[in-house]
Amino acid sequence: MSINSSYVRPPFRKLRAYAFDPSLSLAVDTVTVNTITYRVEWENLDVYSTETNRTVPSGDYIEIIDIDPASGVLYDPVDLDHPHLLAQDGLQPDVGDPRFHQQMVYAVIMVTIKNFEQALGRKIQWSDRRLPADARIRNHYVQKLRVYPHALRRANAYYHPGKKALLFGYFPSRSGDARLQVPGSTVFTCLSHDIIAHETTHALLDGMYSQYIQPTHPDTRAFHEAFADIVALFQHFSFPEVLKHQIARTKGELASQNLLGQLAQEFGKAIGGYGSLRDAIGGIDPATGQWQPHQPDPNEYDTILEFHARGSILVAAVFEAFLTIYKSRIRKLLRVATGGTGKLADGDIHPDLVDLLAETAASTAQRILKICVRALDYCPPLDINFGDYLRALITADFDLVKDDVHNYRIAFVEAFQRRGIFPEGIKTMSVEALRYTELPAMNQLKINEALFGEFLKSFKDDVGYLTDRREIYEKTKKYIAGSEDTKAGLHYRIISKLLEKISVEELLQLTGLYFGGTPADCRKNGFNYSSRSKSAAYWVDHMWLASRISPDDKIVNNVVITLTQQRGLKCQLDENDHFSIKGYAPPVAEAKEDLYRFNGGCTLIFDLDNMRLKYVIKKGIDDKARLENQFRYCYGNSMQDDHTYFSENILAGLAGPFAFMHSH
Ligand SMILES: [Zn+2]
Repeated sequence: MSINSSYVRPPFRKLRAYAFDPSLSLAVDTVTVNTITYRVEWENLDVYSTETNRTVPSGDYIEIIDIDPASGVLYDPVDLDHPHLLAQDGLQPDVGDPRFHQQMVYAVIMVTIKNFEQALGRKIQWSDRRLPADARIRNHYVQKLRVYPHALRRANAYYHPGKKALLFGYFPSRSGDARLQVPGSTVFTCLSHDIIAHETTHALLDGMYSQYIQPTHPDTRAFHEAFADIVALFQHFSFPEVLKHQIARTKGELASQNLLGQLAQEFGKAIGGYGSLRDAIGGIDPATGQWQPHQPDPNEYDTILEFHARGSILVAAVFEAFLTIYKSRIRKLLRVATGGTGKLADGDIHPDLVDLLAETAASTAQRILKICVRALDYCPPLDINFGDYLRALITADFDLVKDDVHNYRIAFVEAFQRRGIFPEGIKTMSVEALRYTELPAMNQLKINEALFGEFLKSFKDDVGYLTDRREIYEKTKKYIAGSEDTKAGLHYRIISKLLEKISVEELLQLTGLYFGGTPADCRKNGFNYSSRSKSAAYWVDHMWLASRISPDDKIVNNVVITLTQQRGLKCQLDENDHFSIKGYAPPVAEAKEDLYRFNGGCTLIFDLDNMRLKYVIKKGIDDKARLENQFRYCYGNSMQDDHTYFSENILAGLAGPFAFMHSH
């Protein structure tokens, strides 16, 4: 028996790492702020992986496999539980020590994961490993993402959805900007906070909505990239230490947009051509030598289609909302500090004021990051566009924070409007119009009777107390598919019990999905009848319990369910560019390969505290306009198979095959 078994486990493990990346330690004025101590929620760590039978640092969410394929070397694993490391907050930053590289990727990935979990109010899961359609079990649980800090000798880093892996490259720096990199030195992408957070976000987003990988709309791929940048950027700004020195240095600029804009742009530069931040936010005006925010053009959204550039429209919109809120929050502070004028006198500003301003910026960034992540639960499960995301942002924030004292929501609406992002079917850009309407109570009774009531309550009771991710996953699966404990599962309840209460047509109207019925039902809804369409195929992709804490300490309990469907259609564009559909087959499990695959789906949000279905966010399987747009977009770009993974073109070139990887 261990004599120290009664000691309380600390809530956090402190780990030192770069706040930006090593290059900033070269510049005299940033060297002091470039090392920060990350606070990572404590978890048990192994130095041995039973999954891969290797000596590697391995936690609950990730394992870090530090093998260098070019040399075949397996680097020593860092032992973060070693008393010497525990006593000094981990290894000190050292570009030359691979064990420090492991420590840094571990710290940043875990901080990113925990930010998601806090905002979403639940444990995150990685996307399932999908097996071919003919396999008996289609989905396999993925416990750990594999992280390869030195996967390739290229200026590249990426998330590979098939392998469930993050791969980071390294490369000799180019002579371009000697201020940022010593020419001839090695640049490690695994030592950049922004690159690690960006790649981790791709994986987290894929764990929620695996269909966002499919380029079904000019916005889908752009959204993945933009969202990954947004998380990296605001996570960055949420460390007050990072901001203090900049605030002290540029004191005259405090009330203007320049300070944070310039800082954001520095981030983009430090990772060279990788982020979408550089041009989106602003630049130096050659005439004045002053940094100027980019003036958005209301035609941007209609005219910029290349996905990186398009993604930067979204990043810039969110960033502008952040600046607006930050400026309004510091106004009072500046008046107090200046005896009412709001104008600071010459000379250094008081360190206490620096602290207060940095804390305000950091807490605003934290709040924006939370809003942005939380909004994901209010997004459709596929075919997302920026307008959908704006509506999700507004609705999610309204649900949790009724009283919008700092006008966060208005700031978002205006920033999107200035860039021409108007959600479909919205006539006025106001918070009220953009918020999804809650379903009327009259629909609720039938839905509750048929489906929910006790079923969702017991789901909450069963899953709510679980903390082990695999147990949550397994238990949820039982609720979806049915089991002895849960009786009929959700899947069955929808096509049997719910359809006893409401018609196929009503359900189509509610969810945008088609659940089959009689030949007459089929014809009425524009589907051909086949014996299969008696119960059309569909998937329950996810069922999430979300328990979020509002700023006034109330717990809000939701269940979020996503349903998806697929139809195989014969579509064509004739020589006159006329679009036509030949087959109207009803949804099937997986459409034949020679057909055009069209997906529909919806996100259902249940309010458990009031026991009602609150919102349905849908992409209809019967939406012909969406089908035509998508078909034209995909064929016009012949982009259908192009995006199997997210490769960051840090310089150029896609990565080759990875012979060293084990595929399971
Ligand atoms: Zn990316």
